[in-house]
This record gives sequence, C-alpha cells and structure tokens, in this order.
Amino acid sequence: MKRLIYAGKSFILYLCLLSSHQFANTLRPSVRVWAIFVFWVSEELILTQVNKVENGVVVAMAYSLHLDDGEMIDSAPADAPLTYLHGHQNIIPGLERELTGLTIGDEKDVAVAPADGYGEYDEDAKQLIATNLFPDDIELEEGMALQLQDDDGNVHQAFVDNVQKDQVLIDFNHPLAGRTLHFNVKIVELRAATAEEIAHSHVHDDEHVH
Ligand SMILES: [Zn+2]
Repeated sequence: MKRLIYAGKSFILYLCLLSSHQFANTLRPSVRVWAIFVFWVSEELILTQVNKVENGVVVAMAYSLHLDDGEMIDSAPADAPLTYLHGHQNIIPGLERELTGLTIGDEKDVAVAPADGYGEYDEDAKQLIATNLFPDDIELEEGMALQLQDDDGNVHQAFVDNVQKDQVLIDFNHPLAGRTLHFNVKIVELRAATAEEIAHSHVHDDEHVH
C-alpha cells in the first residue's frame, strides 16, 4: 500500500514537472490545478479504502488468548502477526464481529462466549470406538486430533479423550468448546484484498501462494 502511495506521489510530481513545460503551456492554469487536485483526491481514496477493518480487508493483528483461569493458550507478536481475510469466516464469529471498524494501532479486549467461539460443550458428543478399527500404525494418545469419516463420507474433526484397553473414547467437541475466550488484539496492518483472495476467501502471502 505504501508503495502505491509513493507511486501516486511520484506521478503527481511528474505531472507538475510536465505541466511547467511544453504540455502545460497548452492548458489554462486552472485546468492544471484541477489535474493535481484529482490525483490528490484519488490518492486519498486509496488510503481511506483500507483505513479500517471491514469485509474484503486483509488484517494483520497481534493477539493473545487467555482462558478464564488466566492461562495463555495462544498468541502472535506484532512482528509476526496473524493475517486473515475479514468477512470470510476465517476466524471465530465472536471475534470477527468485534474487530469490524477498528483501525491500525487500535487495541481491544474481546471476550467471546462459547456460542460465538468453539460452541457449547456437548456431553453426548462422545463415542467409544474399538481400537482395532484404527490403522495399526496410529499410536493413539490422549488429546490427539483425528479426522474421522462417517458412513456418509462426511469428515469430522475429533479428539482422543481416553485410551482404554480395547476401545478409545472419542470426543467430537472442539478442545475449546464450552470455554470463554479472552482475546487482546492489536491491529498491526491493513490492506485491500486482491480479487483472487476474495474469490478464494483466504489470504495469499509468503506461506500461502498458489
Ligand atoms: Zn487461494
């Protein structure tokens, strides 16, 4: 974005130089002033387009995530922020909603209730599965994440709750289900998403290019 602005400024400078020479002599002075004004306004429009968090903006944010008991379970520093495309359900809804309208440098504490985070904890979303149904090369251990496919071919994310002799208790709740999430967020950088990013509903950067 900064590069775009500098390019805009250089172009205006170029126009000014040009207008003081041969081409400009054919224009009335008032027209010259208007030309410069139009470029100044378009430059301002480029700036205002991405000065706040809204749909279609790529947001870079530093954050920390604590649970009710104060335990910090996740974070990203300002020099290695989390980047996501706003308005495309790339982060939990309760957080995304609260970030709308923030600008660069803004800091905010957001408490997200389970319903707006990883869901309420469902006691019935557990299932005992015989260990011999798992491939032999999988070493099942508590807390392990699994992708399980049901009879209809749908893939479910699940976690190993408890390993017993011949069976495993699988928990289909997200590990953070039922937990209130306390975020502290600081907006580090904003830019307009490219048309391709909007079409893919995610950010393309150094780690994700295709
Ligand atoms: Zn993509």
